[in-house]
Amino acid sequence: MTRHNDKANENRFSTIAVGTAETEARPHHGGTNDVVAPIHLSSTFEWAGGDDANEHEYSRESNPTRAALEEQLARLEGGEHGLAFSSGMAAISTTMLSLVPPGGHLVSSDSIYGGTEKLLTKLVAGHLGVDVEFVDAREPENIASAVDSDTDLIWAETPTNPLMRLSDIRSIADIANDHGIPFGVDNTFASPYFQAPLELGADIVVHSTTKYLNGHSDSIGGAVITDDDAVFENLAFAQRIGLGNMLSPFDCYLVARGIKTLPARMKHHQENAMAVARLLEGHDRVTHVHYPGLESHPQHDLAGEQMSGYSGMLSFEFDGSLTELEAFLNGLTIFTPGTSLGGVESLVEVPSLMRPDQGSHESATTDIPETLVRLSVGIEDVDDLCEDLRSALP
Ligand SMILES: *Cc1c(COP(=O)(O)O)cnc(C)c1O
Repeated sequence: MTRHNDKANENRFSTIAVGTAETEARPHHGGTNDVVAPIHLSSTFEWAGGDDANEHEYSRESNPTRAALEEQLARLEGGEHGLAFSSGMAAISTTMLSLVPPGGHLVSSDSIYGGTEKLLTKLVAGHLGVDVEFVDAREPENIASAVDSDTDLIWAETPTNPLMRLSDIRSIADIANDHGIPFGVDNTFASPYFQAPLELGADIVVHSTTKYLNGHSDSIGGAVITDDDAVFENLAFAQRIGLGNMLSPFDCYLVARGIKTLPARMKHHQENAMAVARLLEGHDRVTHVHYPGLESHPQHDLAGEQMSGYSGMLSFEFDGSLTELEAFLNGLTIFTPGTSLGGVESLVEVPSLMRPDQGSHESATTDIPETLVRLSVGIEDVDDLCEDLRSALP
């Protein structure tokens, strides 16, 4: 997949990111010709009957600022429809609730975001009685043998959190198509800049916009993009009428603002992550670096085929005790210990120390090594980042 490697298409993506949506949405901005979509805080809109009927009536159902962002999101993913949610989890749970009936069947990758895993095990399986099957999605055959004609949804995340495993979107989409099953991909780690799941055959793309799309660690939000009209109608009904879990106008503005610099940020994130990955790969207290951009990543070739870059997320296995690992964390001055990712600042997370509820012990899915360190590499000066790691590692 070379969409963004191609110069002409690269321009196209960046141009969309900067502002096509605003150009399209300008007629709705009240005739003031704003270059940036304004924040419409109004919860309701004066009723106009007949031919003058308003596009927007009540802001839970639709709002001009949200509509501009949703259009921008759809264009970024090359899809027909976009929906902006109050969090990534709201986007994911609404997708699952809308598409999988109680007692239904869902096949998911076993390497997924901790919140998604809990949603699937505790609510979707535990509360709705859905038969949730976790499989190692690195091998598409595992998906093929788990699905049958009654399967309601196939779910994958690629690259995965925090082990940076990939699943082959095109092969899984072929399996889904053969059975007429919707296939959803969590594209949060790659961002639409580096990966276009709909182009590869997926039906639904979700994002935690909290991460790269907003990019500045100051908003919680989510998104769903789809080409499928029926899926969109179901999800829009669930969001606008049933659940009311849409993104607020102010947060829509923040995400739309963040998206304008997505291409510039992603290039920088990846450049810095590559340098950090190479530094760690050569360090004698690091046993394993998980980064799809490294030749040593077992799915490096697949990454080259379905992604146009490798993003800014990586993890590594530290060779030492947890006490030494805590000393490493305390020695860092630029990488801030904290959860979340995809912001301009570098963050470091040790799941076993900082997110024990999401670590290996309770996990229903993949085991996460106790000394695994996850880095969200920011866009600071790359030499400062490398120096920070070099001096904090024993
Ligand atoms: C953060 C994250 C989510 C959840 O998003 P929230 O905005 O925190 O609700 C889902 N999937 C992935 C891959 C994430 O990183």
